[in-house]
Amino acid sequence: MKKDYDIIVVGAGCAGSYYARRMAEHGYNVLIIDKSKRENISNDYDIFHFTRKEMEQFGLPMVHEGDGIFCFEYDTVSFFSPYGNYAKSGNSDSTIGMHKCEYIQLLNDWAVEAGAEILYEAEFKECVYENDKIIGVKFEQNGDEFDVSCRLCADCSGKKAVVRRSLPDNYGIEKFELTEKDVFFVKLRYIKFDEPIEKWLTSHNWMFYKAWLSPSDDSADAILGMGSCVSYKIGDKIFETLMKNLKLPSFKTVKIECGTTPYHRAIYSFVSDGFIAMGDAASLTRPNNGEGCAANLVLADVAVDIISEVMENGSYPTREKIWSVNKEYNKKQGAVFAFMLSALAKAMQHSIGADEYMYKHDIFFTQPILCGNGKSLSISADEIFNMIKYIFSGMASKELPAGELGEMLGGALKGVKVGLHYALYPKTPDKFDNWVKRADKLWKKAGQMSDYFINKQGEKS
Ligand SMILES: Cc1cc2nc3c(=O)[nH]c(=O)nc-3n(C[C@H](O)[C@H](O)[C@H](O)COP(=O)(O)OP(=O)(O)OC[C@H]3O[C@@H](n4cnc5c(N)ncnc54)[C@H](O)[C@@H]3O)c2cc1C
Repeated sequence: MKKDYDIIVVGAGCAGSYYARRMAEHGYNVLIIDKSKRENISNDYDIFHFTRKEMEQFGLPMVHEGDGIFCFEYDTVSFFSPYGNYAKSGNSDSTIGMHKCEYIQLLNDWAVEAGAEILYEAEFKECVYENDKIIGVKFEQNGDEFDVSCRLCADCSGKKAVVRRSLPDNYGIEKFELTEKDVFFVKLRYIKFDEPIEKWLTSHNWMFYKAWLSPSDDSADAILGMGSCVSYKIGDKIFETLMKNLKLPSFKTVKIECGTTPYHRAIYSFVSDGFIAMGDAASLTRPNNGEGCAANLVLADVAVDIISEVMENGSYPTREKIWSVNKEYNKKQGAVFAFMLSALAKAMQHSIGADEYMYKHDIFFTQPILCGNGKSLSISADEIFNMIKYIFSGMASKELPAGELGEMLGGALKGVKVGLHYALYPKTPDKFDNWVKRADKLWKKAGQMSDYFINKQGEKS
């Protein structure tokens, strides 16, 4: 280990490994520190997935059957109404399931191959400052304390955000901690069907319950997953309703994994003097499913382009110089995610009857919207006409309560306002405080999905 680095990355998960690899490719001296042992890295749950298209887009190392990392690949997705009476199915981008610990080890090695150094069992303690700017990091390894200098510290430490939360109050970075209101409680049940089946190679989704059934590795036939707001207990209650309302083939649960994933807007500014936060540390996950790996790589690519140029010739990456990371990210994915997070806070709160009706009559829950997976979406005039016709007849017959529809449309409108605000993210830090004031107001109006579950104590039946 040297004493001086250009960049110190705290956390060797997906976000840290990817950013380290890309900055090392640009010729920077990068040190990654992670408090875990290599053999335990990212082993909080077993199987995660990327789409094949995302792996190609970001140039990630590919996996193959029999390599000890690859688990499965599928391309058929189906979405079902709450009673399972109506289904929308289609081919989406191929999804590849992988053992996470082994894949993150591969990403660690991929970063090292480009020139980054990595230290395991090295725990971040605090940043070192000079003239109120970060100029290094203190960490502990095997009981010894080390002091290394850097021009940029990247917080990729996951949802605990250990660097971000240790910064001085006036550093221009939010220091909030995620509470139970701000995360999804995910429970993965690895199941074996009582009747033997061919390998399960499709994804079934029940959005009403935030539940899905997807392939597994050889230890089980499938994984029955569920994400819930506020607590696992609320999730278990919704799971009981799901089991009552759906006629799934009988099965035994062979293993359960639990974990939480951020479900909170991303921090308003990712950067400050000699600092950037990425991944779960920046609360950056997809609002429709809480996944963070690919979503974060979009921010990482923006950051690599801008910061690698700013740091050329030994320059220090001040807040002003790297501010455009915020602007460029929020113009694209940031605005879309803000819209989705805000709109979904209300959209997911309708009753089971309304959901069933919307699936039946192709109102919002249409095959191209649900199964398109990013493919270009076109809706014909006939389809829009039918949607409107069934909205009115649903309200007349009370199968689609006007109040619920109003809430959903109101939620979508609030989402549009939030999204537009992010699209107009300030170009320079001097307008930031005013932007934050308006953003705070908009988020307050939008509310959070968890508000509903706290009010209704998980009654979703
Ligand atoms: C059950 C479940 C299933 C999921 N499935 C998917 C999926 O299929 N696809 C997907 O995209 N997302 C999925 N997610 C979300 C995804 O796991 C996270 O968004 C992603 O792992 C975040 O990556 P990260 O690199 O930001 O943080 P992490 O993966 O959490 O990595 C942070 C690293 O920082 C290290 N660290 C922490 N504190 C310190 C310290 N003080 N000093 C040094 N190092 C430290 C940790 O040891 C860790 O290695 C799932 C989440 C859950 C809970």
